[in-house]
Amino acid sequence: MTSLTNSLQKELDAFMSGLVRRNPGEREFHQAVFEVAECLIPFIEDHKKYKDAAILERLTEPDRVIMFRVTWEDDAGNIRADRAYRVQFNNSIGPYKGGMRFHPSVNLGILKFLGFEQTFKNSLTGLPIGGAKGGANFNPKGKSDREVMRFCQSLMVELHRHIGEDTDVPAGDIGVGAREISYMFGQYKRMENRFTGILTGKGLSFGGSLVRREATGYGAVYFTEDMLERAGEGFAGKTCVVSGSGNVALYCIEKLGLMGAKPVTASDSGGFVYDPDGIVGEKLEWLKELKEVRRGRVQEYAEHFGCEFHAGERPWAVPCELAFPCATQNELSGKDAQLLVDNGLIAIAEGANMPTDADGVEVFLDNKILYAPGKAANAGGVAVSGLEQSQNSLRISWSRGEVDARLRTIMREIHHQCVRYGNGKDNYVNYVKGANIGGFVKVADAMLAYGAV
Ligand code: NDP
Repeated sequence: MTSLTNSLQKELDAFMSGLVRRNPGEREFHQAVFEVAECLIPFIEDHKKYKDAAILERLTEPDRVIMFRVTWEDDAGNIRADRAYRVQFNNSIGPYKGGMRFHPSVNLGILKFLGFEQTFKNSLTGLPIGGAKGGANFNPKGKSDREVMRFCQSLMVELHRHIGEDTDVPAGDIGVGAREISYMFGQYKRMENRFTGILTGKGLSFGGSLVRREATGYGAVYFTEDMLERAGEGFAGKTCVVSGSGNVALYCIEKLGLMGAKPVTASDSGGFVYDPDGIVGEKLEWLKELKEVRRGRVQEYAEHFGCEFHAGERPWAVPCELAFPCATQNELSGKDAQLLVDNGLIAIAEGANMPTDADGVEVFLDNKILYAPGKAANAGGVAVSGLEQSQNSLRISWSRGEVDARLRTIMREIHHQCVRYGNGKDNYVNYVKGANIGGFVKVADAMLAYGAV
């Protein structure tokens, strides 16, 4: 991606081989660190203070990892045991903050990659929040509400010792939405006998913030608006391809429609739907009800509205000007990226974390596509979580308009930082470099100030 001098390339190789040796088998963590180290090693070379203090080495080692068993009883009376984690990555600029993911694929390497990325993302928001991530290999799909409740309560029996409003404030992620957050919050409150802003993404009647649900998807669209504006472009009439149909994807689709663009796809692990007339208005409301209330599959959308369903496929072959991967990591390969570019892609913003693999990133950058990596484009979610913490501390609630305006400002500021550190001689902004350096500086300066801790 970046052409490095021989000596910097050697430094990067040595750094990465040490990291791989110390963290065997953690493929996604290696991938996330490589992408950051490739940008940071030349920057650190020009700023020796960071090198002398071994900031990059320290920043790639989590502060601590907590791993524990969650035992619970299913509806048939069987005893079940799952494995849960909390990776507290870095709290240099504020209390740990990051989501909890419930998915059978969850393992330590995936949570370390997410916690590492979260540290940079949280710094980019400008808010005082450190980086963390957690989750469990529990699969909420197909479980009854009562089973999910018992799992969440059991998980919190252990997790409650490690979190706190000034220590670590978890939120949602894949498989953890309003229902799961509510069960975990209720259990924490019961155990601690304190009503405090310990989780974000809470219900509106017990400390949640307006616009939190929409924030990640809306934020990705706001960031894209800034990229397009800088390039003299806008949303009107542009065809958009979106993957996923969860929290991030649904509100990304919603905002795209409101901006005058045409979102034509949505997906889940079963495949994708293609609606050439656009997933807007009543059709979007139907999809939201399907996914958020009935917990159905996108295939049902295709059956209901009579459009195409592509089983087992991802939507990247659909021609579009704008793309929004909003499902999961490594869902867009180099081949997919090339197809998107050949079909006329102008810009891509990652609602998901690391959805594009390393080959895909290279294709986008080589072709000078406006490419917003997740740590910048999807920072709106954690930003509004930070605003939820502020409202909880102040014991007030801001209006929808106020929170949305703050989100808009934060996304614009993140865009500024990316341009500041990522703008090249040809005026093409490498948003990967911009986000990595922009996120790094504040955390690194705090670590320098603390000395050797
Ligand atoms: P949800 O659980 O609400 O939705 C996830 C969506 O992605 C579902 O449609 C799901 O389909 C699909 N999906 C998940 N795993 C896979 C897979 N392996 N293959 C195909 N499809 C898959 O999660 P969110 O919308 O909250 O999160 C989506 C992404 O956004 C994640 O990368 C997350 O880390 C990131 N993110 C989320 C934030 C938030 O505020 N929620 C904030 C910042 C980033 P199915 O139901 O079939 O599994």
